[in-house]
Amino acid sequence: MTASPTRIIVAGGGPAGLIAAGRAAENGTSVVLLEKMPRPGLKLGLTGKGRCNLTNIAPLEEFIGHFQPHGLFLRQAFHRFFSDDLLRFLETLGVATVTERGGRVFPESQDAGTIVSALVRWAEGSGVRIRTGSRVQGPVLEGGRVTGVRWTGADGAPRTETAHALIVATGGLSYPGTGSTGDGYGFARTAGHAIEDTRPALVPLVTAGGIAARLQGLPLKNVKLTLIVDGKAAVSGFGEMLFTHFGLSGPIVLTASLAAVDALRQKKSVEAGIDLKPALDEAKLDRRLQRDLREHGRMEAANVLKLLLPRSMIPVCLELCRIDPARPGHQVTAEERKRLLAWLKDFRLTVTGHRPVSEAIVTAGGVRLSEVDPRTMESRLVRGLYFCGEVLDLQADTGGYNLQAAFSTGRLAGEAAARFRS
Ligand SMILES: Cc1cc2nc3c(=O)[nH]c(=O)nc-3n(C[C@H](O)[C@H](O)[C@H](O)COP(=O)(O)OP(=O)(O)OC[C@H]3O[C@@H](n4cnc5c(N)ncnc54)[C@H](O)[C@@H]3O)c2cc1C
Repeated sequence: MTASPTRIIVAGGGPAGLIAAGRAAENGTSVVLLEKMPRPGLKLGLTGKGRCNLTNIAPLEEFIGHFQPHGLFLRQAFHRFFSDDLLRFLETLGVATVTERGGRVFPESQDAGTIVSALVRWAEGSGVRIRTGSRVQGPVLEGGRVTGVRWTGADGAPRTETAHALIVATGGLSYPGTGSTGDGYGFARTAGHAIEDTRPALVPLVTAGGIAARLQGLPLKNVKLTLIVDGKAAVSGFGEMLFTHFGLSGPIVLTASLAAVDALRQKKSVEAGIDLKPALDEAKLDRRLQRDLREHGRMEAANVLKLLLPRSMIPVCLELCRIDPARPGHQVTAEERKRLLAWLKDFRLTVTGHRPVSEAIVTAGGVRLSEVDPRTMESRLVRGLYFCGEVLDLQADTGGYNLQAAFSTGRLAGEAAARFRS
């Protein structure tokens, strides 16, 4: 008896590829998943600082809004399989979840490994043959459709395998040590697809001078960050950020980063303005400063500021505002107080660059969406070729949105590929 011919090959065993493969197998097709790393789901295992923020319970419209500017492409995929469906599905796999601040959902185990092993178990249990150490080299195309896949095993020997469909789930370019090295863009180009400019998104920003380095390790909560591009406020966000030895990181910085990346690429000037007291308008903050300086008039300015700022910020603040740290509170002049007020509301740093795409959380750009059918994830150019997950020109804010997109597009691609008849 001969083995039944492979019908679907999935390239990449991340969240998109695992769910695509498992879903196609559940629908009765023969599925092989080729993963080039020794284990599938290496990046998935790192997500959410190892806790895996797997989705978000935000309602659909809000959810889609986190994928600017291409969220609408996801409507059908989300319609078929959204966050509540994902949570129910995980429950059937025995994975309990918890919802945290901001609607972020994590496995109850607080361990991303739980998600990886549940998905691998489910995919294999559904009949998927997972071959690790197997690198896909590209599709074999004949007469405008997929007829096979070229790949190399651990021995490096080139092989060709017949397939009716290839699902490309190779991810983006970030954290290449996990296997995501952009291979799928090459497969897409071979098939005639355009690739939208790939660049880092959700990436830390580099700032000029040594100020950030002096504050290195300092987290700030409840601050407002505004990116100023060519002198105009471009985007702003409220929440947490972090100073690092090279510049700025943390959630609100990552969220704003793509706007900075794009502006810098266009040679525009970019600054970050931090409002350290967003809950107080200038008039209220000024009254508060006057009161503190009056009530603690004998105290040195550096000590008065302890009422307002984290300790490590005080020397930087006084230096930038040109105030003598030893000056008693009541001797701080109106001019000095004005400078202090302006600084507290708009601590400016010049953004000179960003960390490389290898350190980004996601890759912006990718397979052009107008060339992919959003109802099936099938290529509009080549029959039997599917794309899902981060290889597509999609990226979202932090909060679990990117993983939900990988799961939703992967599941849709798996279902559609299982129905596909060449
Ligand atoms: C540090 C970090 C933390 C993150 N945290 C979160 C989070 O908490 N929540 C969230 O929503 N998103 C998070 N993300 C983003 C999220 O991980 C990605 O968007 C998601 O993993 C994309 O899934 P994917 O399946 O498309 O690609 P990937 O997860 O990148 O998987 C692609 C797979 O394809 C394999 N592959 C590549 N080329 C080949 C080839 N030629 N042949 C065979 N196999 C190949 C790779 O080895 C890899 O296993 C995080 C990202 C990083 C880097």
